[in-house]
Amino acid sequence: MTTISPLIAGNWKMNGLTHSLEELSELARLLTTGEAPRALVVVCPPATLLAAVAAQGASSGILAGGQDCHTDASGAHTGDISAPMLADAGAQFVIVGHSERRADHGESDGDVRTKAEAAIGAGLKPIICVGESEAQRDAGEAESVVVQQLANSIPDAAAQHEVIVAYEPIWAIGTGRTPSLDDIRQMHAVIRDSLVQRFGGAGETIRILYGGSLKPVNAREILAVDHVNGGLVGGASLLAKDFYTIISAV
Ligand code: PEP
Repeated sequence: MTTISPLIAGNWKMNGLTHSLEELSELARLLTTGEAPRALVVVCPPATLLAAVAAQGASSGILAGGQDCHTDASGAHTGDISAPMLADAGAQFVIVGHSERRADHGESDGDVRTKAEAAIGAGLKPIICVGESEAQRDAGEAESVVVQQLANSIPDAAAQHEVIVAYEPIWAIGTGRTPSLDDIRQMHAVIRDSLVQRFGGAGETIRILYGGSLKPVNAREILAVDHVNGGLVGGASLLAKDFYTIISAV
């Protein structure tokens, strides 16, 4: 099995005002005074805090990411943010296709793929989210839904550029519920197979993150599952202490 360096990304979603940077300082303190983290650490704050996170995180190795980007590099799209703008603010990553974007903004797999292409074009590493709804899991469709999302959301450029996949079962996001370890193992194996089938050797090296109610109490066991190469963390990334515990569980 190819060794992949783990990555833990925090998604602050629409949470965080300037004083949240105190949590970032605390995270930086924990990361630099404790045992060196075994994972790359990424924080994806709201766009208003991106430049500050990128600047403040630099000395402690915390990398910054956006939470979404437009498909275009610039233009008449009021309220949107483009991949080159994220890069200009210091981001190195961007989440695309989060289920909240897919649901709230009607984003299709095709939109997600174009956003991932835009991210790559701007020199960012897209974190491409996929995951089934509870109804789809109950209907026994989880794997086929995810495989389809992967096929349609990941651009061909993933063969030459770094992309990251995040498996986030929608019903586990923000609910405190998680799939069983066996279900996570099974889905990550399916994702790995699908990446290898499409991208060959490059598919062996794509990180597959798990996301959905990853917490200090379950991080160690989930992050140890085969083909789980790190995590995408929502709620528990808002508190430095909790996020650090998850990072340390790698
Ligand atoms: C997320 O929204 O990406 C997420 C994983 O959220 P939570 O950790 O809060 O379930």
